[in-house]
Amino acid sequence: MPTLLVRHADLLVTMDGARREIAGGGLFARDGWVEQVGPSSTLPDRADEILDLSGHLALPGLVNTHHHLYQTLTRSVPAAQDADLFHWLRALYPIWARLKPDDIRLSTQIGLAELALSGCTTASDHLYLYPNGCRLDDEIAAAAQVGIRLHAARGSMSLGESQGGLPPDSVVEKAEAILDDCQRVIEAHHDPKPGAMLRIVVAPCSPFSVTADLMRESAALARAYGVSLHTHLAETLDEERFCLETFGHRPLAYAETLDWSGADVWFAHAVHMNPGEVSRMAASGSGVAHCPSSNMRLASGIAPLRRYRRAGVRVGLGVDGSASNDSSHMLAEVRQALLLSRLGAAARPEIDEDGELLTARQALELATRGGAAVLGRDDLGSLEPGKCADFIAVRLDRLEYAGGLHDPIAAAVFCAPASVDVAVVHGRKVVDQGRLVGIDLPPLIEQHNRAAARLVRGD
Ligand SMILES: [Zn+2]
Repeated sequence: MPTLLVRHADLLVTMDGARREIAGGGLFARDGWVEQVGPSSTLPDRADEILDLSGHLALPGLVNTHHHLYQTLTRSVPAAQDADLFHWLRALYPIWARLKPDDIRLSTQIGLAELALSGCTTASDHLYLYPNGCRLDDEIAAAAQVGIRLHAARGSMSLGESQGGLPPDSVVEKAEAILDDCQRVIEAHHDPKPGAMLRIVVAPCSPFSVTADLMRESAALARAYGVSLHTHLAETLDEERFCLETFGHRPLAYAETLDWSGADVWFAHAVHMNPGEVSRMAASGSGVAHCPSSNMRLASGIAPLRRYRRAGVRVGLGVDGSASNDSSHMLAEVRQALLLSRLGAAARPEIDEDGELLTARQALELATRGGAAVLGRDDLGSLEPGKCADFIAVRLDRLEYAGGLHDPIAAAVFCAPASVDVAVVHGRKVVDQGRLVGIDLPPLIEQHNRAAARLVRGD
């Protein structure tokens, strides 16, 4: 079994139970699993592969808990630049209805490439449109070429405009076909084992695009197979009004009536949650994918992040769809989480009443341990024996950090977001010397730009 020795990192952040930060640190891994972590002098001196991280900060790989990779094709679309969620969706649905399988492939690789280069080693993606023969399998095959872990969420929409939903009827599917396909992709692809590179998630899209019956049946199907459940919830006040008018419940109460709560459930956004709802989330174990950039971009609001943390709710970070961010940069999202939380403490003191500010280390914790907990991965999120050898490293002599090395960990969050120099997933390099391994980016970007132009033109 191949061994990997990592040594001499200027600082290695473990995110273990004691939150050890080890100067001159490293780790020893066998077959993709960490066996030892500590000062380099305490580690074996031989291995099949040796990685010298002198001059680098090393961190556990970052975990992205919410995304729509296909939306990399519709970044900064003029008609959707200055819109709130519902108007933004109405502008983009007709464009997304033109997606073809090759567009899924291109956008998956572009989005995951950007994620990997920004420090992400595990990504969850929520694909909820399947026009023109597109399948989740298109995304899964494309992701394997980038080499980061994927939690592929089989999304769905079943409530079209004619039935009182938001999306046009042309982009929704029949409930029976959705459930059949969820079952098919679970049986074909889901790997429940520790160290899994690929898991499937069942993920009806949102209260305003899915029927109550499909929400309930999706939960039952996911639980029969032991896979996680994911949806958008409490993202905007428009959605809250929709839920009150249509179902007579606020979003969380509506989800609870559909069996959507528990340790196998996580919600994207969860912006508009009152203190009682935060307590119910903590009690049930439901998790949150906090998406600060998207929440600012669409003027959705400020999630009660510190209240979630204090209550013990599982919280990770999500870059969300590339059309509402408009990037897939994980280290940038860590910075946004820190900044938005601080703005929230000032602008909405009622949601962060203790007046303390989120720290750089707490923001990084959201993107590592927090994200792993949200995805139900006790094998990820920290660097310690028994965990997967997923880590990233950033050179410290970069322009962005100049003058910020009093505290390199804080520099990685406070200073301009860096691209990582090294990313390793299960002991295998996916980024080396700042470049993706195994993906030739320039021709991929060219094809992706051609596809994006075609989709928006409507050819
Ligand atoms: Zn989303």
